[in-house]
Amino acid sequence: MTAAPWWTSAVIYQVYPRSFADSNADGVGDLPGITRRLGYIADLGVDALWVSPFFRSPFKDFGYDVSDYRAVDPLFGSLSDFDALLKEAQRLGLKVMIDQVLAHCSDQHPWFQESASSRDNPRADWFVWREAKPDGTEPNNWLSFFGGRAWSWSPKRRQYYHHNFLSSQPNLNYANEAVVSAIVEECRFWLERGVDGFRLDAIHTCSTAPHAGDNAARAERSESDESGNGREGDGATQNRGQPFAYQLQESAQLDQPGTQTLLRRLRQLSDQYDDIFLMGELAGEDGMALIDKYTAGDEKLHSCYSFDLLDWEGQNAPQIHKVLARSAKTLRPGRVTFAVSNHDVPRAASRNGNANAVPEAARDSFAVTLTLLNLSLNGSACLYQGEELGLPEAEVPFEALQDPWGRAFWPEFKGRDGARTPMPWQSDEAMAGFSSAAKSWLPIDPRHRARAVDQQLARPDSPLMQVRAFLAWRRDQKALHGGELKLLEGNEKLVAFERHSAGETRLCLFNFGEAQEVELPPGGWQRLFGEGENRGQDRFLLPAYSRAFLAPER
Ligand code: BGC
Repeated sequence: MTAAPWWTSAVIYQVYPRSFADSNADGVGDLPGITRRLGYIADLGVDALWVSPFFRSPFKDFGYDVSDYRAVDPLFGSLSDFDALLKEAQRLGLKVMIDQVLAHCSDQHPWFQESASSRDNPRADWFVWREAKPDGTEPNNWLSFFGGRAWSWSPKRRQYYHHNFLSSQPNLNYANEAVVSAIVEECRFWLERGVDGFRLDAIHTCSTAPHAGDNAARAERSESDESGNGREGDGATQNRGQPFAYQLQESAQLDQPGTQTLLRRLRQLSDQYDDIFLMGELAGEDGMALIDKYTAGDEKLHSCYSFDLLDWEGQNAPQIHKVLARSAKTLRPGRVTFAVSNHDVPRAASRNGNANAVPEAARDSFAVTLTLLNLSLNGSACLYQGEELGLPEAEVPFEALQDPWGRAFWPEFKGRDGARTPMPWQSDEAMAGFSSAAKSWLPIDPRHRARAVDQQLARPDSPLMQVRAFLAWRRDQKALHGGELKLLEGNEKLVAFERHSAGETRLCLFNFGEAQEVELPPGGWQRLFGEGENRGQDRFLLPAYSRAFLAPER
């Protein structure tokens, strides 16, 4: 029997390079900074790291606007710094994944500069250009995720170009075969350098329907909708309350057939190398159905990164249960990568639907329970830097705010900077051990200092030490590395499921409220990890905000 590929149940640590560790005292994290801290990541017990964009960029969207796919931005170091990071990570037994932002590039990318220079240059058709309507307005009513129209005017071409995010992030035209081939070569460049996989940014936004008309208005969704979230709007609900959420994009603006062609080409490429993981990031009306489509067969993506547990406002136990039910019903095992925190949404410890009811003293337990739930699901899982410390969402005043999305909609919508502030390494250092500069690109929240790594390493019951202990234990639990996830009945504060694989069963219980007694499935169970105790043959007492992992009694 051949072993399952590493990615089927990998725990992937997400590093946001601007905020991980600053080696050259400019207040911004960089690649050598990450390399110096790789020991910390390896000691956590994860399998891989995913490094968010470090490519050359004007940083209008903080690196998700790439102006050279093959270059490291000098802010982060050099290509040889990247090679050193890769070598050291792999020496420590960590796989390295990097972001590839393929749907759009920066308007500073030479491809766009050339394309925008005239209507008949060799790259004239590399982006999505359309005529204005006779009255000079945009070709249709499409909106951008970040607010405003999804079209911007080019005075030289006297045409509009399409962008799903900022106007400085023009969408590439994947209906053009030359674009597909060029992008495949940009990806090959990194595979040749030895990376182990890609996180493919916003992959469902790659292609659009040519000459499409207006998007229709989106009807309100009901609580009973089976898509999992039971809320209106995009599965990511990134756009809750924002104009983008008022339209249905699926018929033309997003998720068009050209994307599937691109995916096949990327898979053909990655299959030429050993053990590569292609993880697409997407969100949609019915995220699980989209993931199924993007991972169908063995010719497209291996897995997709789901936003369904990343709701901006957090999810309570029944909402989490619903997402898991939908994923179990729709997907082949291992095809989804869940996360409960990332650089795009408020930090999980502050965000979960139960968070406001959590007493201050239980906040750490609550945060660890949520993280351990994510690390016990079927498939791979991402752990966002600082999540293992139970960091709350940072307060960032408007004057310090960097995220253009937040600046546009402040104060009702504060954007993403609260999840992007620097990692606190040492509580007693001026910049919490992140940097020796006088100022960092985003401020360090004083509450994070008390939760710095050095403090947590010294406390066996800290979130960091609990996550480490869990990952060490998880390593040998066959049931958590594949096979099925069977949901059990939960309640308002309880998520419960069994994992089965290779003849092993683990019962996983997560309590998001006060202490409660849980009825166990028949047969007798013993606790292997976590907290709580049996109450007779068929009941288990779970302390407040705790989790427990049980095995059948022998
Ligand atoms: C990334 C965001 C980025 C957007 C546009 C997302 O999915 O995670 O940070 O702003 O794509 O590239």
